[in-house]
Amino acid sequence: MNFPTGGVGEELPDPFAYPREAHQRRHGPVGYTNHQAFKPWLRDEFMFRCVYCLFREAWYPDRHASFSVDHIASQVSAPDRICDYANMVYACTRCNSARQDVDVLDPTTSPPGVHLRVRGDGTIAALTAEGQDLIDQLGLDVESLVRVRCYYLDLIALKREHPDDARVDRLFLQSFGYPDDLPDLTRLRPPGGNLREGSESTSFHSRRAEGTLRRYY
Ligand SMILES: [Zn+2]
Repeated sequence: MNFPTGGVGEELPDPFAYPREAHQRRHGPVGYTNHQAFKPWLRDEFMFRCVYCLFREAWYPDRHASFSVDHIASQVSAPDRICDYANMVYACTRCNSARQDVDVLDPTTSPPGVHLRVRGDGTIAALTAEGQDLIDQLGLDVESLVRVRCYYLDLIALKREHPDDARVDRLFLQSFGYPDDLPDLTRLRPPGGNLREGSESTSFHSRRAEGTLRRYY
């Protein structure tokens, strides 16, 4: 998955650019017996946004409470993989409940950017038949989602037109800054360890502590 950049003097975010490359996992926690325990890892892994609609925690009033652990191979079709980190992604509860137990395109191995493209007017286009299936399964083209995309695209345009306006900057950071409650992965101790040892120190929490985290993304 591509990591968008952003920060002072940097390019403005492109929040609806779906990744065009397969997602390389950064973390590898093992051994939790409750799949909810993987959530802080997934928040960091997928940059605090839904892999399907790209909506961010910051855009929901109750932040990450509106997000859940989503299983690529559903809990029904792969009950033995319920606590397999490689089978988990991060999704908003809207997308998570829209897909229910239907197996959809794997967004980690089949990058959504190959199948979907958000237009400048907030509508979404399928580039492939799989993309159209995903749009239909998750309702990615419904009016309410198009309106939300338009709002954030307008906010970016406003920031571009008024880069030094303090009020615009405040609104902009509320929407495109990192969450305040970044999970500190170094404090978590997965029972089976971390297959990607040391990845905890590459978390966004650690980057904020080091002062290397950008203002927005
Ligand atoms: Zn979503």
